[in-house]
Amino acid sequence: MLKQILKELAPTQTTLVAVSKTKPVSRIQQMYEEGQRIFGENRVQELVEKEAVLPKDIEWHQIGHLQTNKVKYIAPFVSLIHAVDSLKLLKEINKQAAKNERIIDCLLQFHIAEESSKFGFDEAEMKEVLNSSDFKNLANIRIVGVMGMATFTSDEEQVALEFRYLKDIFDRLKNSFFSSQDSFKEVSMGMSGDYQLAIAEGSTMVRIGSLLFGSR
Ligand SMILES: *Cc1c(COP(=O)(O)O)cnc(C)c1O
Repeated sequence: MLKQILKELAPTQTTLVAVSKTKPVSRIQQMYEEGQRIFGENRVQELVEKEAVLPKDIEWHQIGHLQTNKVKYIAPFVSLIHAVDSLKLLKEINKQAAKNERIIDCLLQFHIAEESSKFGFDEAEMKEVLNSSDFKNLANIRIVGVMGMATFTSDEEQVALEFRYLKDIFDRLKNSFFSSQDSFKEVSMGMSGDYQLAIAEGSTMVRIGSLLFGSR
């Protein structure tokens, strides 16, 4: 399955994050041996335990909601945090990154779905954060793009519209705040059920779990 998906992604230059949550390290090791290097987890404890025993050249992405008090556990090694949804969290990531003498890459999560349960900023809140002096003083984080999750529905048109909306937000932020920053380039959207729609709408990074590893 990995080979098939990579083949499908290749012409679009989309990055694959293999979402390995709940799956044993043996399965991750297996996929590592097939060449995959980027893995995503959503629970901090699980991520820390897996990182400790798996090869050191894996790039670990924290993809799910992250609690402020857990940042310290992943700060030494995490390569990208996808779901940053508050200034408070950004400040904590900055603090822990500084302690580890690192700069940690982050994606800003936007609320694009209909469900009220999904986390994320709206555009107005985000602009306020980006314009604040608090934000401008954060020297140990680097914002490299945006992330979002579409509504869980079989209505493909709705999902496509939500992804398009996230891509539009990305374009506006790029123009207004990050035009001189080449590293601001990622649009993390698309999972097993909707990654093709996401790619059609401009995704640069898909987070695929069950399609690769089987259902959880
Ligand atoms: C679990 C998860 C995924 C992967 O979901 P699948 O449907 O298994 O591909 C992607 N993104 C986030 C944030 C997740 O928590």
